[in-house]
Amino acid sequence: MKAVLDHVGIAVRDLEAALAFYRDALGLEVEAPEDVSSQRVRAHFLPVGQASLELLEATSSDSAIAKYVEKRGPGLHHITLRVDDISAALAQLKARGARLVDEHPRAGAEGALVAFVHPSSAHGVLVELKQPSLEARRPSLEPQVDSTVRRYQLGDLELISVCDGSFRLDGGAMFGVVPKALWARHAPPDDRNRILMAMRPLIVRGMRTMLIDAGLGDKDDEKFHEIYGVDRARNLDRTLQEAGLSPDDIDIVLASHLHFDHAGGFTVRDASGRVRPKFRRAQYVVRRGEWEDATHPHERNRASYIADNFVPLAEAGVLQFVDDDQTIMPGVRVRRTGGHCMHHQMVIIESAGKTAAFVADLMPTTAHLSAPWIMGYDLYPMDTLAAKKAFIEEAVQKNMLVFFEHDPAVPAGYIREENGKRRIVPALS
Ligand SMILES: [Zn+2]
Ligand SMILES: [Zn+2]
Repeated sequence: MKAVLDHVGIAVRDLEAALAFYRDALGLEVEAPEDVSSQRVRAHFLPVGQASLELLEATSSDSAIAKYVEKRGPGLHHITLRVDDISAALAQLKARGARLVDEHPRAGAEGALVAFVHPSSAHGVLVELKQPSLEARRPSLEPQVDSTVRRYQLGDLELISVCDGSFRLDGGAMFGVVPKALWARHAPPDDRNRILMAMRPLIVRGMRTMLIDAGLGDKDDEKFHEIYGVDRARNLDRTLQEAGLSPDDIDIVLASHLHFDHAGGFTVRDASGRVRPKFRRAQYVVRRGEWEDATHPHERNRASYIADNFVPLAEAGVLQFVDDDQTIMPGVRVRRTGGHCMHHQMVIIESAGKTAAFVADLMPTTAHLSAPWIMGYDLYPMDTLAAKKAFIEEAVQKNMLVFFEHDPAVPAGYIREENGKRRIVPALS
């Protein structure tokens, strides 16, 4: 049986006093209360990561919670474990001699099936088993990528956030030294410990039309898709079309770096099996140091570089190298960050006094805002730390619109600082 903590039920005597601690002092959010009239109780849920705390308030002096509080005082009332098959779980417990309050599952809130196990079998704790309804299960277990095409006006430039679907990477590798207990609250892992990541290239329309990064592309086989949990139902072709563009409208393709989740879409395999540039009219701009690293991989970065994503660009003669931080088109310049890889670069976009930044893997998701939250994949994490801290200062100061290429839910946002604390305010258009 696989059981996941759903919530911890706490019987309270004085709800306002309890909220003063759990909501105000701890800073947890409280959801709208749910009345369970059959039990004469009102439940207040406070999400904590993937589980919740449930404050139980009696609505009548004859409710079980009122009696519980009267007898023992307020405190831990029960824990609820989520199971996939509650009948199988009950049968298994019964076979092992556990004392059950409910021999058969009964209907709980929101279409769930529930059953209680007696505290005498659970070492003094009342245990509730819960099998959520199918509808309730889907959103919690399968977070979705926001693949909406979004347009942002930045002075005279138009920025269009497009999407090449999603993939999954090991959550531990995505957060480096940060313990799972912390990162799992921000990025719930799947049963293989992988977290959901978007791939969101950015279009800049000004004098010319530029595409920054191009996602994964469609040259990979089924085994690759399985390993990385690839979902490209909403892909770059589709979202470009929704943006009113075709691949032939792109004049410049700019690479933050050449890892497969950024450069895979640079090329396509044609009917004859030959790999060629996808954007037929475009010049591809790549940092020379990154090109050298990508074409001479070592044991530590080899898995990230797939030659078919970039070597055909050289063969087709469409590459332009940049050696330094410089302007690529009016309003758009590149800046080396290093860290993730030696020549990783971000893109700074400026027009009419407004600034935006496409930070690529310097800060792949909004969860990476915190200084020590640095990917284990990074080759030079201390360089990431320095570059990130300097960038965040600048982003706060200049009120930059920051694009998060891999964040599943937040394509872009502003970094705000209040009382020494930083947070991201999503910008959805
Ligand atoms: Zn990368
Ligand atoms: Zn990446």
